[in-house]
Amino acid sequence: MSQVIALANQKGGVGKTTTAINLAASLAVMEKSVLIVDCDPQANASSGLSVIPASSRDTVYQLLFQPEDKNRVIHDSSLECLKVIPSCQDLVASELELVEKIGREYYLREALRDISKNFDYVFLDCPPSLGLLTVNSLCAADALLIPLQCEYYALEGIAHLLQTFKLVQKRLNPSLRLNGVVLTMYDRRNRLSGQIEREAKNHFSNKVFQSVIPRNVRLSEAPSHGLPAVCYDYRSKGSQAYLELARELIG
Ligand code: ADP
Ligand code: MG
Repeated sequence: MSQVIALANQKGGVGKTTTAINLAASLAVMEKSVLIVDCDPQANASSGLSVIPASSRDTVYQLLFQPEDKNRVIHDSSLECLKVIPSCQDLVASELELVEKIGREYYLREALRDISKNFDYVFLDCPPSLGLLTVNSLCAADALLIPLQCEYYALEGIAHLLQTFKLVQKRLNPSLRLNGVVLTMYDRRNRLSGQIEREAKNHFSNKVFQSVIPRNVRLSEAPSHGLPAVCYDYRSKGSQAYLELARELIG
């Protein structure tokens, strides 16, 4: 059975894309078959894995609106078990294009229906908003995974995200569940990180993953080499943290 997991948080820069790439790559290293769908017009997950589509016809945009030729949008990555459906600038327009459509919340779900079953895990890397692309991701997903950056105001906006999650669950996708909260850019020397961790555990209790992702320069360098951290520097603290998170996810 495949598991489709949406990585969402309407805040930018909290580690959605870094988590999508590195959690997916860690599972691929463990020989799970994994797909990343880049749902953000900024296409950071695509470029971070050196998947540069020749045109929008090779991207998630095509998949949403003309899903006839599904195979051409699925690209290889540097890891055998990890495939990528990249994004492109044109995806910006899709929020507007979708507004007009009937069943606009279900376009991604429909498009992925036949594809997902070929993978153990599918990760949907959401844009930093709660617009239709994120709602499409939540409708296509079995689970929501929230990256929470260990910074001031980490929990600000979380209420809004949870409200969206509950609304989608109630009205659009009853089988959606909260898979968990992962603390990112954690710094053990910094009291703030511990404080955010306690607040998150108060708020989400056992939904907070035991594995935390440290602030680690290798994680921020890897995308400029077009590689997941496990390929760029396997032994780094960042890589090891994501491998640990992957083990926890598998359970
Ligand atoms: P989002 O997708 O939520 O906008 P990103 O994953 O793109 O966030 O992360 C934002 C920035 O922070 C990127 O430059 C990324 O390389 C960096 N970053 C993310 N996680 C870490 C980490 N654990 N340690 C160091 N840098 C990180
Ligand atoms: Mg991102």
